[in-house]
Amino acid sequence: MTGPAPTPWDHPAPERAGLPSAWSLFPEDLEAMGCPGSAAETFRRLHRPWTWQEGAPVLGSAIRAWLEGVADLHLPGIAERQPSGDGSTKLALELEDGKRIEAVHMPRRVRNPRVTYCISSQVGCAMGCTFCATGGMGIVRNLQSGEILSQVLVLMAALGPQRGHELTLVFMGMGEPLHNLDNLHRAIRLLCHPLGLGMGRGRITVSTSGLVSGIEKLAMMVPRPNLALSLNATTDEARSRTMPVNRVWNLARLRQALDNWGPRHGERFCFEYVLLAGENDTEADAERLAQWLGELRRGHNLNLIPMNEHAGSTFREPGDDRVQQFSDWLKARGCFVTVRRSRGRDVQGACGQLVKERPAP
Ligand code: SAH
Ligand code: SF4
Repeated sequence: MTGPAPTPWDHPAPERAGLPSAWSLFPEDLEAMGCPGSAAETFRRLHRPWTWQEGAPVLGSAIRAWLEGVADLHLPGIAERQPSGDGSTKLALELEDGKRIEAVHMPRRVRNPRVTYCISSQVGCAMGCTFCATGGMGIVRNLQSGEILSQVLVLMAALGPQRGHELTLVFMGMGEPLHNLDNLHRAIRLLCHPLGLGMGRGRITVSTSGLVSGIEKLAMMVPRPNLALSLNATTDEARSRTMPVNRVWNLARLRQALDNWGPRHGERFCFEYVLLAGENDTEADAERLAQWLGELRRGHNLNLIPMNEHAGSTFREPGDDRVQQFSDWLKARGCFVTVRRSRGRDVQGACGQLVKERPAP
């Protein structure tokens, strides 16, 4: 079953008094809008948080006055910080309309300063996966490109790192990034801009539940980020039950989309498989998973993520022995497996737990 695309669905971000976010503008936009100084330098000051003072860019008074007339300089505020025992910090960010999103700052425990941010693409999510806390919220709205980008800038200004090349980004926070593809990709182009953070496209990973129409569009886009696929089941029957997206794009169609993506030299998919006790953790599942991966089992990573339990789902985490056994079954079939115990579990900042606990205002 491949079926037609789902009904177009629209949850625009609110109009901000008709002004574009300053963080969504390229130097050429600033130029075209009549920037009274150097557009390149203005962009640089906006997009390099290590040059900011007191959490805001340092702009000359003429440029600031002009920019305030043509763009919205609002940045998300840090509403809450919850440091976890594993060194990561979960942050709740408050947007201009009072909605909250969550992001996680995860320093890597190696000598070179490297930090991974897990960031959001939407407030809530429409995809309704039954094991996911964000899915339980439903969709509230898309993030604008400036909001996606400014999450990164605000985290850098508050917690580091000091430079874009020390940063890795995973779109594994709230939302289905490919449901908000235009804003997502504009943000990626801004992140990679050499006058801004200058990130390499290989340091950005977009995780999807398997929205094939979005995967096929992203495959053609430049720059093209890395792709992570959330599989989480090995039969269409089971996957359609826990991940409604599978009712439109089934496992065979998803596999075909990966073949059409055509991984280039050095490009790796990351497969994510949330282990749900008694649901998807048998040897038959391991066998079907290896079969589905086919030649992709070599050279591409398969991450096993034991279910992070939360109040909104009855699924449970399998015991450590079963996790190890499942990993061994896959390794015996030639898969490259890692077990990812989510960071930030003690502050509900791990995968699928990025949900605000307060009721919506
Ligand atoms: N919407 C995208 C990205 C955000 S979810 C996606 O689904 O890929 C990021 C990852 O968290 C996905 O791999 C998802 O399967 C996983 N996840 C969701 N709920 C989880 C839970 N309760 N425990 C562990 N992982 C979970
Ligand atoms: Fe949305 Fe991903 Fe959660 Fe599914 S797992 S509901 S796609 S955030």
